[in-house]
Amino acid sequence: MTEIMESLKDQLKEKGYKLTPQRRATLDTIIENQGKHLSTEEIYDMVKEKCPEIGLATVYRTLQLLDELDVISKINFDDGCSRYELNTHQDDHQHHHLICLKCGNVIEVEVDLMDALEDEIEKNYDFEISDHKVKFFGYCSKCK
Ligand SMILES: [Zn+2]
Ligand SMILES: [Zn+2]
Ligand SMILES: [Zn+2]
Repeated sequence: MTEIMESLKDQLKEKGYKLTPQRRATLDTIIENQGKHLSTEEIYDMVKEKCPEIGLATVYRTLQLLDELDVISKINFDDGCSRYELNTHQDDHQHHHLICLKCGNVIEVEVDLMDALEDEIEKNYDFEISDHKVKFFGYCSKCK
């Protein structure tokens, strides 16, 4: 079992939940598609291949649960559906997303790059920053 699956199992147990085959298949699908920002429907279609008996409502509830437990996070790219990704660096600040307005491609920027801005905000607003979500909209290399 992977480290992330072990930690999920413990977290679920603490809250009185079990790592059911459906929950496992849902998380497996997200892990296998890391970096892809799948929508609920896309995740459902893939989980169905592992668990043919699973329903959309179960997948939906599992995603909400995983989001509550901070195993995955929900991101809204303003394209009308919620997308999910694995929370890989929980203590770290989130990476940024570049969203192509033409093809909808989402590119990840792995580095924070916000240190100077964060210092400025913390100083000027007496505010302690723990995280941030930044989306950049524009055109990717193929659509420019
Ligand atoms: Zn930061
Ligand atoms: Zn594009
Ligand atoms: Zn991402």
